Amino acid sequence: MALDDRVRTAFTRVLDPKDVLSDPVKCRAYECDGLTGYRVRPDLVLLPRDAEQVAAAVRVCHEFGVPFVARGAGTGLSGGALPVADGVVISLARLKKVLAVDPVNRRAVVQPGVTNLEITAAAAPHGLYYAPDPSSQQVCTIGGNVAENSGGAHCLKYGFTTNHVLSCEVVLPDGSVVTLGTDTAEQAGPDLRGVFLGSEGTLGITTSVTVRLLRTPESVRTLLADFPSVASAGDVVSDIVSAGIVPAAVEMMDTLAIEAAEEAVHAGYTVGVPAALVVELDGPVEECDAQFELVKAICEKHGCTRLHIAGSPEERAKIWKGRKAAFAAVGRISPDYFVQDGVVPRTRLAEVLDRIAGMGTDAGLRVANVFHAGDGNLHPLVLYSAAAGETERAERLSGEIAELCVEMGGSLSGEHGIGTDKACSMPKMFGEEDLATMHRVRHAFDPDGICNPGKVLPTPRLCGERPGKYKPHPLEETGAIERL
Ligand SMILES: Cc1cc2nc3c(=O)[nH]c(=O)nc-3n(C[C@H](O)[C@H](O)[C@H](O)COP(=O)(O)OP(=O)(O)OC[C@H]3O[C@@H](n4cnc5c(N)ncnc54)[C@H](O)[C@@H]3O)c2cc1C
Repeated sequence: MALDDRVRTAFTRVLDPKDVLSDPVKCRAYECDGLTGYRVRPDLVLLPRDAEQVAAAVRVCHEFGVPFVARGAGTGLSGGALPVADGVVISLARLKKVLAVDPVNRRAVVQPGVTNLEITAAAAPHGLYYAPDPSSQQVCTIGGNVAENSGGAHCLKYGFTTNHVLSCEVVLPDGSVVTLGTDTAEQAGPDLRGVFLGSEGTLGITTSVTVRLLRTPESVRTLLADFPSVASAGDVVSDIVSAGIVPAAVEMMDTLAIEAAEEAVHAGYTVGVPAALVVELDGPVEECDAQFELVKAICEKHGCTRLHIAGSPEERAKIWKGRKAAFAAVGRISPDYFVQDGVVPRTRLAEVLDRIAGMGTDAGLRVANVFHAGDGNLHPLVLYSAAAGETERAERLSGEIAELCVEMGGSLSGEHGIGTDKACSMPKMFGEEDLATMHRVRHAFDPDGICNPGKVLPTPRLCGERPGKYKPHPLEETGAIERL
């Protein structure tokens, strides 16, 4: 059922009618995020210009019971910004101002549509930067980063988005506005900021974010090393960490990922090697240099076949260009692919990658790997051809890989979120009581269930995960949620 005219008129009262898109062709641009296998064309797309307009649009949604989905740059990889049928998309793309940079207190206040890299660009003249660095940082927004609690190569040492966000102004699903967190590190009472970080757009829309800035490190040393096997590269990662070194980043790529990245950006990787590691250290010069020698020795001990040390900022940027281009580059060697995101204990990396290779062979599909090895955050890319009818097989394999990560003592997601993609796998990781608690938290923020419904948590409608005769969820019995 399409939205009725009263709702459309109400939106044009609070926004400029030009900022309410209903043309199906224009709305099509919003029908999916980076997980392009799932598509729903929204009825309306709203393009508010400031926080007041966001709140006013959400109040209309609340009044008419219209589901809404916030959208940043649409680079999410778990279908978190997938529109809801008969709902609206609220795009934050026009809230793009850096509102303040405070170098003394090392903070910045930004609107949600500011990209991750724009924060660093604004801080750089003060010798500061914003640490979390998703590979999509040129385009993804801080609003999306907050919602996904995004990570990046350097989160091994510096932590994820949640460690760098002090407070958020949030429009709640009834249109009221609150500030979660404070601009000082300490705060009294329960950490509602922490609850909001990583809630994947299901608790409200953030309209302003106060982030911490870090001082640009005195020295940075980067190397690219090739290895005769994934297992030997994995052993290097374990040895570096057990030597007490906390690298800024340790990234691993396998043969297929290297081939794709090299073909795309010619960053100087060795095509054909089984595994390559990018290791970066940063900090005071003396400490960095001493630890870098240790890392080199560990690489050599594990049979590294080539060690390339970046000799200039340009060479360093080139190494990172290869790594950061890898996801997109895989499009060169396969017409379609799913990007999976799971975490395993670092010590089980080689074993898990071996299992994944076997699962790929059994499914008759290629799997490329490019990932944050330092924290065991895997990104297996399942390559397939939709035109050849391989989609379902690929989707199944991708889901099985995520569940393997849980079986290995890890997690369904490291940084890309649960979204639409893995909601049905949540019962593999969490028990009924945990899920019921998460439902209760969500219900406290969004009693009407209009804020990004159907994402993250399995609902009786979404998942047939409970085989056999239908049994109501305990929360349905209490009346807190209803079966749709
Ligand atoms: C090539 C590539 C590389 C990537 N590399 C990484 C990586 O290294 N690390 C990583 O963590 N991720 C990575 N990602 C995933 C993605 O970029 C991140 O999840 C990013 O944070 C999404 O930001 P976005 O602005 O595109 O958000 P969107 O995709 O638009 O939305 C993501 C979620 O955030 C919600 N949302 C958006 N804005 C708001 C807001 N203002 N308030 C509340 N909710 C909001 C949406 O409803 C949705 O649930 C990568 C993606 C691509 C395509």
